[in-house]
Amino acid sequence: MPKKIAILPGDGIGPEIVAEAVKVLERLRQDCGLDVELEYAPVGGVAYDTHGTTLPDETLALARAADAILLGAAGGPKWDQLDTALRPEKALLRLRSELVLFSNLRPTILYPQLADASSLKAEVVTDLDIMIVRELTGGIYFGQPRGVRTLENGERQAYNTLVYSESEIKRIAHSAFRIAGKRSGKLCSVDKANVLESSVLWREVVTELGNEYPDVTLSHMYVDNAAMQLVRAPKQFDVIVTGNMFGDILSDAAAMLTGSIGMLPSASLDTQGKGLYEPVHGSAPDITGQGLANPLATILSTAMLLRYSLDEPEMAKRIERAISQTLDAGLRTADIFRDVGRQVSTSEMGDAVAQALATN
Ligand code: NAD
Repeated sequence: MPKKIAILPGDGIGPEIVAEAVKVLERLRQDCGLDVELEYAPVGGVAYDTHGTTLPDETLALARAADAILLGAAGGPKWDQLDTALRPEKALLRLRSELVLFSNLRPTILYPQLADASSLKAEVVTDLDIMIVRELTGGIYFGQPRGVRTLENGERQAYNTLVYSESEIKRIAHSAFRIAGKRSGKLCSVDKANVLESSVLWREVVTELGNEYPDVTLSHMYVDNAAMQLVRAPKQFDVIVTGNMFGDILSDAAAMLTGSIGMLPSASLDTQGKGLYEPVHGSAPDITGQGLANPLATILSTAMLLRYSLDEPEMAKRIERAISQTLDAGLRTADIFRDVGRQVSTSEMGDAVAQALATN
């Protein structure tokens, strides 16, 4: 039985970059025996235009039925005037929560060929390879009660609730320990246990769980220190696990260490390893349709899809090697071009990676 991949190109540069990832999948199917079937469905603004909703029922049904989902991006100026609840970006939040994709993996890898694209000195970031595991469906972004009220003195007051239950902490910690076990065996849990009760519980639960993973060395760090260490000496980290808001902020800071948002993949997994894979960036309306988009974040997301949902780690490595070879050959899309090498278009970059697969 072939594994089913739901392909949701979405808006803006989404269709351009997803097309390049599909080239890579097709090459693996033809040359390396990858047994997958691809099925397309609309999501985001394009779905709103054709179906009147940004997440049509058939798209959700396909996403549920598939073994993994590859997504481009959603949103753009055309739909900015819609009510918040109807906005294309909401389709992604709904997809993540309907499929209970609670574990968000954001690798920050700096290819040595791109060290000069980083905002930090080359020696601080060369060979950087960090995995941030962010809890995605709980914490302060979802906690109740939340709202804005008017106090007796007439002043407005806004409030949110940072809440984590033991089971939520356990499942994200399990996910992180397992990933750390497959990497260098080092896990750093980031919290604010010196101030927040939710973090005290977080630290207790993660520490208890550590006994089940004797091969993983667990450490803890306060989030303010983690932010500082990420820009001071980022290579001290391997896997970081943290809550929703801390992960949101730390992963964006870590992202910038690699130079371009066009290089950053992500995965959001459920307890069974099924996942939604997408580049970290958005639909980039400013460069849509010009062949300027970097497809590597989406192609790297496809490698993650093969590793984490389809259990094809060798194929994932082949893609990563092919990307490295392509960068070695000097090919650069506009966002990572810095005087050396040759600037290429979105599709030329995809062609080159697919071509390199044949030789590695
Ligand atoms: P963005 O990530 O789309 O773009 C930010 C900047 O990075 C732009 O200058 C863009 O040209 C550049 N960029 C992004 N991806 C690139 C790539 N692959 N190659 C080269 N350059 C790239 O963020 P934004 O401009 O704030 O948002 C645009 C739209 O995307 C908005 O509607 C936003 O809501 C939506 N968005 C969607 C997602 C998602 O689908 N997961 C995530 C973030 C933003």
